[in-house]
Amino acid sequence: MSARADVGVVGLAVMGSNLARNLARHGHTVALYNRSPEKTRALVAEHGDEGEFVPSESLEDFVASLTTPRVVISMVQAGAGTDAVVDAVADLLEPGDMVVDGGNALFGDTIRRTQALAARKLHFVGAGVSGGEEGALNGPSIMVGGSEAAYETLGPIVESIAAQVDGTPCAAHLGTDGAGHFVKMVHNGIEYADMQLIGEAYDLLRHVVGLSPAEIADVFREWNTGELDSFLIEITAEVLAHVDGATGQPFADVVLDEAGMKGTGTWTVQTALSLGTPVSGIAEAVFARALSSHRETRDAVQAAFGVSSGSATPVPDDVPGFVEAVRRALYASKIVSYAQGFDMLSAGAAEHGWDLDMGTIARIWRGGCIIRARFLDRITDAYREHPGLVSLLTAPVFHEALDGAGDAWRDVVAAAVRAGVPVPGFSAALAAFDGARRDRLPAALVQGQRDLFGAHTYRRVDREGSFHVLWGEDRREVRA
Ligand code: NAP
Repeated sequence: MSARADVGVVGLAVMGSNLARNLARHGHTVALYNRSPEKTRALVAEHGDEGEFVPSESLEDFVASLTTPRVVISMVQAGAGTDAVVDAVADLLEPGDMVVDGGNALFGDTIRRTQALAARKLHFVGAGVSGGEEGALNGPSIMVGGSEAAYETLGPIVESIAAQVDGTPCAAHLGTDGAGHFVKMVHNGIEYADMQLIGEAYDLLRHVVGLSPAEIADVFREWNTGELDSFLIEITAEVLAHVDGATGQPFADVVLDEAGMKGTGTWTVQTALSLGTPVSGIAEAVFARALSSHRETRDAVQAAFGVSSGSATPVPDDVPGFVEAVRRALYASKIVSYAQGFDMLSAGAAEHGWDLDMGTIARIWRGGCIIRARFLDRITDAYREHPGLVSLLTAPVFHEALDGAGDAWRDVVAAAVRAGVPVPGFSAALAAFDGARRDRLPAALVQGQRDLFGAHTYRRVDREGSFHVLWGEDRREVRA
């Protein structure tokens, strides 16, 4: 077989086949391979006229069809599937060739694979591809790790197929080895938090204000014209306006209220715990999905204490005022949750030696991905205008929104608590904001407790050094 494809895709399930079509539509000659040949054949049969494809039914032929240095994009199941494919492809490649993992790999696996392939003089690039199947086909956001040398070859390819916003591709090299997959993981965590906050806003409007799903769809449409303008707000309105064909009921009422998850939110929280970075908004979102799926617990508690629907509470006197308060609380909570996500990016960068550019990350999230929003422009601007910004919370552009939301945020959380409508995302965000603002935190008491039961020592406000009280003796303070 003559080598004529400039890029290859292994793994032609929904993501891989759409990415391959996107590449072909942008003028690339795309080599194709899938373990089960039916998918390769189906892709060529159904979409072969969209560009140049070179299908193969053996990995050897696939590799032989690629021009050198070879660029192989793997779009297979994360974990063991990716290991199997990367190993098999690597055995057939030559020094200087490149394997790109576009799946949702755990960034630690990407670091391990990068080292293993580097020992064989092969480039390995972990690239987070966001936007689901629609994004893969029409322009995803692509968060690229690996070496700068690898990006010199890969950059033009990924930038040609990425979403474009204001003429700029939503793809960039973010850092070495696992940086791309780390950023993608945090992106997914932020997506969980965004969705949870929107869900809480809906619950408040439905069960505290008493609006119908169709009325709430109108509220979200209105919100989508302002600072909350985003893909997720837009699709929320669409879902809420949808009526179930079988029953004529609002679609939102016929869907079982048990949220699924594939694991990237959980990875984000696990990683944040080991980095010691509070991402309470993301954690509450993951836990809220978990609670929703614990049907047995929910049934038992409802049987024991009665069912709470929230709607028994009086409707606020000033409905438009309360709706606006919910909007402000949602925006303020969203700012906190993004600030936490970006804090986690900084912590990951420090831990793994990546030089992550926060403004660039926000920029490539503006298109193609699920969290795309006008809001991300403000984050990019904040980092551009204030290099070294310690927390997004302090960026002038968000200062006003947080300051202005204060009373509304508290009123909304208080109303929710009184009505028994759970708002873990709103209240965790408010607690994180309040926590950061407090002059004295009860952490001082915790340090005292730790010193008493475990001689863990403490520092003082008025002197340098570490101290310990001889709690079991005469309670003298000694230097530790
Ligand atoms: P998937 O269901 O995650 O994986 C199926 C693909 O993996 C098939 O092509 C399958 O080949 C291949 N595969 C699995 N184990 C294999 C093995 N041991 N050897 C060779 N091939 C193997 O597919 P997907 O939903 O298209 O996702 C692909 C990747 O993109 C995943 O890492 C996923 O996490 C990530 N991703 C998905 C989305 C999404 O919205 N779906 C969004 C972003 C990222 P066979 O056909 O032979 O079984």
